[in-house]
Amino acid sequence: MVYYAPSTREAAAADPAARRIRGVVFDMDGTLTVPITEYLRQMRRELQVPDGVRILDYIDMRLEGERRAWAHRRVLEIEAEAMQGMELSPGLVALLQFLHANDVRTAIITRNNRAALDHFVNNVVARQPPEHRPFFSFDPLLDRSFAPTKPAPDGLLHISRQWGIAPEHLMMVGDHGDDLLCGIRAGSVAALLRYSDNRAFEPKAHVVVDRIDGLVAVLAAGFEADMAIDGDDTVGV
Ligand SMILES: [Mg+2]
Repeated sequence: MVYYAPSTREAAAADPAARRIRGVVFDMDGTLTVPITEYLRQMRRELQVPDGVRILDYIDMRLEGERRAWAHRRVLEIEAEAMQGMELSPGLVALLQFLHANDVRTAIITRNNRAALDHFVNNVVARQPPEHRPFFSFDPLLDRSFAPTKPAPDGLLHISRQWGIAPEHLMMVGDHGDDLLCGIRAGSVAALLRYSDNRAFEPKAHVVVDRIDGLVAVLAAGFEADMAIDGDDTVGV
């Protein structure tokens, strides 16, 4: 087990060299926002994506020509519908406020498209009260055009380099096994936002919370993480 010291300003001032989380990278759908499970199910159904195969992998590797173009179009259309109903994850503001107050940086890595990411940043965040908006200072914002995307660690390692913060000082938070694998493969802490239908991913999580603001207590108190969990692809998709 590896001990992570509290991510508070006070703890950082008292022991600056301790291993602690200095940056948190979030998945978007189902993590910063309420889950879009129904829309993902609809995509799988319409495109006839077999269980155990990632939707985007299926389109790019198994479909050709007209059929592939149609599938890409349907994904964008279904994502656009899901975007209209986008809502903040309950407790998110409290977590972001804590991170902001303690100089912990934040970023987003999503497999969604740029329009959906921009909609989150420009429309959903803009609906928040003005006093909350400074907490939403995610930078950088990586969508699926940053390749290879999750579960590859490349996006997270890119952020690590951009921030000048070592991967072991970063936490990747998500509601899917691929978010956790991305974190593990980068050498970072992987935190699962647990719902009734994603418990299969628990074995790949260093930290599990049932509401996103559960991370406030974890980060404020410090925690132990089993950094020996391996990043092999056995948790399903
Ligand atoms: Mg997600």
